[in-house]
Amino acid sequence: MVSTVIVLLSLTGLSVARDWSHHDEDAWPGQCGVGKEQSPINIVPHESLPDPHEAHIRGPLVYRGYGDVEVRARNTGYKVRWAVEPGTPAPVLSGGPLRDNYTFAEVHFHWLSEHAINGLKYPMEIHFVHLKTGLNFDQALQQRDGVAVVGVLVQVGPIGETSVLEELLPAMDYIVNPSNEDSPTFNVDLTKLFSPNPQAFYTYHGSLTTPLCPEVVTWMVMDQPTTVTHDHYKNLTRADLEGINNDRRVQPLGTRMVYRSKEVASCSHMASPSLLGLAAAIIACFRSKMSTTLLGAMCSIVKTKRRLLGNVVNKVTCH
Ligand SMILES: [Zn+2]
Repeated sequence: MVSTVIVLLSLTGLSVARDWSHHDEDAWPGQCGVGKEQSPINIVPHESLPDPHEAHIRGPLVYRGYGDVEVRARNTGYKVRWAVEPGTPAPVLSGGPLRDNYTFAEVHFHWLSEHAINGLKYPMEIHFVHLKTGLNFDQALQQRDGVAVVGVLVQVGPIGETSVLEELLPAMDYIVNPSNEDSPTFNVDLTKLFSPNPQAFYTYHGSLTTPLCPEVVTWMVMDQPTTVTHDHYKNLTRADLEGINNDRRVQPLGTRMVYRSKEVASCSHMASPSLLGLAAAIIACFRSKMSTTLLGAMCSIVKTKRRLLGNVVNKVTCH
């Protein structure tokens, strides 16, 4: 029975239309090419602003109802997403930089990560997408604060680590191929996909990271990455999304500010995806205290590794 369903989904997948491609971001329509507040961005933790008087981040984020959610999975051709089943109770996010309640709509994944930290991308990023409560998707896209997205960076952990993707495994066979049909309903505990510290985050105003890239998003990018096993990472990323990564390249920050919550210490971001990331974080945090010789040596290591690994993003820590 299950295999029959999968075959049918594969067939319907042939009709999924593609209007744009991650192969050619320069051709993206809408705000993507001309907007001034685009996402994702490179976050430099030590350049983010604290908010001691809570002018921008007014208290902690409040997560309600994420423990038991009815969702349906689908590979849309651009992303794999788990959307809340219409008519069932949806989680609600409020607090932090948000001035309203935001109702959870879907969770989806990007590989590589979209946001970079200190110039480096992680293997994956989880996006929890919320719409301002009471608005549908089209209405939310008309308001500057219509959408709230929580981004959780993901590292691929050592063998023996528990994996947050365990929760989504029952739906994996349904998301291998693009389809116009949703999977059956699954009950999931979305808190298992959260960052280890869901109160430590960076926040800024930006856009959706896919066309038409409307600038309507309050972003909350978590400071501490979560971990998936190598097997689960392979299992999820076998999904057919044009056979390539589905992350957008980082966009200029421009005149925007990135604030950090109180839970983020200014040099806390030492949990990096690699030794290379750790070196970049050390340079970013301590460059004013380093001798020129040591800084030069560390920067040359970072640059060489970046070339070897192809791990280059637009803004790097070493110049
Ligand atoms: Zn996304």
